[in-house]
Amino acid sequence: MANHIEEAKSGRASCRTCKKTIGKGELRLGVEVASQFSDATVQWHHLACAADKLPVELKEGLAGFEGEVPDRAALETTLEATIAKGAAKPGGLPHVDHAPTGRAKCITCGEPIAKASLRVAVESEIDTGAMVTKGARYLHPGCAKAHFFDIDGGLTDLVVGVRSNSRLPEVELTAAIAAIEAGAGAPAA
Ligand SMILES: [Zn+2]
Ligand SMILES: [Zn+2]
Repeated sequence: MANHIEEAKSGRASCRTCKKTIGKGELRLGVEVASQFSDATVQWHHLACAADKLPVELKEGLAGFEGEVPDRAALETTLEATIAKGAAKPGGLPHVDHAPTGRAKCITCGEPIAKASLRVAVESEIDTGAMVTKGARYLHPGCAKAHFFDIDGGLTDLVVGVRSNSRLPEVELTAAIAAIEAGAGAPAA
């Protein structure tokens, strides 16, 4: 089932955004989280929390929900504002967003990714020595092609994933995808 709204059947689940409990009978948004390493699972959010962090998913949930939603108009105003600000959380990996710091290094060229510049985040297995965990690793858009070059259909899958998960304004997303497809390498320092 895609992103959907329902009444909480129990008071046991907590909101993935604010970590607080979602009361029994309260409306909640279920977001399906897909991973290339495991089956999809559903994560729950308060509707008000989703309006601030997951506006695209909430919009889809509201569109498919036939019941009464208290504060529907206020939720819609908030979610549209979140989208307009570019403050929405990406819908999973892979995606393109703005680097919050200048600390991450590109996994293709090894150079740092400049703060606030566009970066590609991909899901990767990270070997910590003691165990292998899943997490995000980062690339310059221009370095992604070299990284996915030897994976069959890898670049196509990356672009499809980036298009569906990124929450950038359309003009930035189009530029990022063009840079991924061009594969020109790291930006000149
Ligand atoms: Zn919440
Ligand atoms: Zn790079």
